[in-house]
Amino acid sequence: MTVPDRAPVGGVVVVTGGAGFVGSHLCEALVERGNSVVCVDDLSTGRRENLAGLDSHPAFELIEADVSAGIPTLPFGPPAAVLHLASAASPPAYLARPLQTLAVGSEGTRHALELAARHGARFLLASTSEVYGDPAEHPQTEGYWGNVNPIGPRSVYDEAKRFAEALTFAHHRALGTDVAVARIFNTYGPRLRPDDGRVVSNFISQALAGEPLTVYGDGTQTRSLCYVSDQVAGLIALLDSGVTGPVNIGNPDEHTVSDLARLVVTLTGSASPIVHEPLPADDPTRRRPDISRARQLLGWEPTVPVEVGLSQTARYLAAQSGHTVWEPAGGPETSSARADGHEGGTRR
Ligand code: UDP
Repeated sequence: MTVPDRAPVGGVVVVTGGAGFVGSHLCEALVERGNSVVCVDDLSTGRRENLAGLDSHPAFELIEADVSAGIPTLPFGPPAAVLHLASAASPPAYLARPLQTLAVGSEGTRHALELAARHGARFLLASTSEVYGDPAEHPQTEGYWGNVNPIGPRSVYDEAKRFAEALTFAHHRALGTDVAVARIFNTYGPRLRPDDGRVVSNFISQALAGEPLTVYGDGTQTRSLCYVSDQVAGLIALLDSGVTGPVNIGNPDEHTVSDLARLVVTLTGSASPIVHEPLPADDPTRRRPDISRARQLLGWEPTVPVEVGLSQTARYLAAQSGHTVWEPAGGPETSSARADGHEGGTRR
């Protein structure tokens, strides 16, 4: 195992998309370990309340701006790193914003890269398993080039991220910019929007409301779910390493969508039925990361079991919906996971 011997990135870190689901957890973790964090977010899908815990923290600043249009002058002085997470990320959100999604993946990435290059800062791109499209290889290693429909509705996200990767590597080769590319696989946890449209937020919200769980297609398609604290630990491990990647950051624990629906019903004690609805266009049939590279190069692997993570997410979504906070059988929080999602994802 090779874990690069580099000091953690200190000083100022810029996080684009820092008010989003993953971004807000990342901002908190970075502030907690001593970084000064500037979050740049246009609040189109991110939410100010995700950052309530950092409100008026002296080492945190939220700048409301669309990075596709440019990055304004930032507080705290020159950044040591720029983490580019800004983008709609749930399929309904990016399908509703096709042009903005392409803009933030292209122009937004260019602006974030230029900011990093100007200051000799490390640049980390939050890419995605969607670069593999509907994968012909399984599980997906970083060496797999993908199977993407370039003109399908999902291409606005897939191709934007593929372009963002190309731009990041071009910067690295042409200008020597210090870059890292994380390919993020399906991530879930507290701060998923209840109306976000992704599988975990939909199923849990439906189960808590006693409504039918909507399985798209026959439910045999698979996803591998990574709890948000594990995801954040992986991103920070990559940030602190000298690794360029790309590196898959995800949990290889693979489930069919039908299994996930049944698991959510069981965990929430819901009486909801499971119904089937049409499969969205180009919905990938299977997805599981090969995380050998992350294990070897970063000394990272996920640690939160899906039952624990789903229970934490259910607790959060129950509190959000204004209903009585749901508690799992066996009582309130266990010591292995807190309601705000901060645990797990340790470096070995
Ligand atoms: N899905 C589903 N019901 C829902 C939402 C999603 O069956 O209410 C399916 C979706 O078709 C896909 C999987 O769950 O096969 C994961 O979807 P999600 O939108 O969470 O993310 P994706 O991996 O497709 O980007």
